[in-house]
Amino acid sequence: MEVRLAKSRGFCFGVEDAIEMAEQEVAKRGAGELTALGPLIHNTQVVHRLEQRGLDQSGDVETIKEGSNVLIRSHGVSPKVYEQAKQRKLNVIDATCVLVKRAQNVCRQLHEEGYQVVMIGDKHHAEVQGVIGYAPDVIIINEQTDLDETLARRPRLGIIAQTTLAPKYVGEVIARICNRNFKEIKVVNTLCMEVVHRQEAVISLCQEVDVMFVLGGLHSANTAELARLCIDAGMETYHLETWDQFRPQMAAGKIVAGLTAGASTPEWIIADFAERLGTFEA
Ligand code: SF4
Repeated sequence: MEVRLAKSRGFCFGVEDAIEMAEQEVAKRGAGELTALGPLIHNTQVVHRLEQRGLDQSGDVETIKEGSNVLIRSHGVSPKVYEQAKQRKLNVIDATCVLVKRAQNVCRQLHEEGYQVVMIGDKHHAEVQGVIGYAPDVIIINEQTDLDETLARRPRLGIIAQTTLAPKYVGEVIARICNRNFKEIKVVNTLCMEVVHRQEAVISLCQEVDVMFVLGGLHSANTAELARLCIDAGMETYHLETWDQFRPQMAAGKIVAGLTAGASTPEWIIADFAERLGTFEA
């Protein structure tokens, strides 16, 4: 079948930098001498490759051996984690993406300016968990939040968003907030343009194809967002990690398939999937 690739897809610079940093540090220090705090990126295959090269992983800074090396992933962490690392005399190698660092700084700055900081995002996501540590009492909201209850009696709001959200979604949440009677609302755009470009490319590709395949970790927020945009565009959509999850019925009767991938999906997974799908007889 014919396969069309989204013009913008796959690894972003933040993920590329984090992987490069991990590989260089492991090569320099040797296997077992560097521990990533959580999975380096939301891609099982890449994480597994790095583990094979000698990168260890731990979900909690308190369990990492005192005096050893810890790698902070691109999602970043809260100031409390840096403090814990210091107390354990860990050598911190920081791969926090510059755009996440910016969101952290904006969060702190809005609080210092006297705003009640509001973050649009998923409270379970690691990036959000890190960013909210930069100001006390940050309120996390999404499209289902009861704003009357959550934001009652807070006159000056400073709003930021999880970097990987779609502008349309963020705009809708902000519009709902603007419908309420707040004296002052300051919005700082913390969205990542790498992600926005991938979202624009996938919306455009949906016009040309019969079915969409979105490749990326099942826990990857930006990949899930790409799949959601395809579904919103009325497209039959499959969010898969690799070719192993492909089933013939997904492409049965289709002529043209679209293919894109989240910011933590390497090109070799995309190329492998495209090649196999290209030889598939629908
Ligand atoms: S998606 Fe954007 S914010 Fe997230 S790591 Fe990549 S470049 Fe940074």
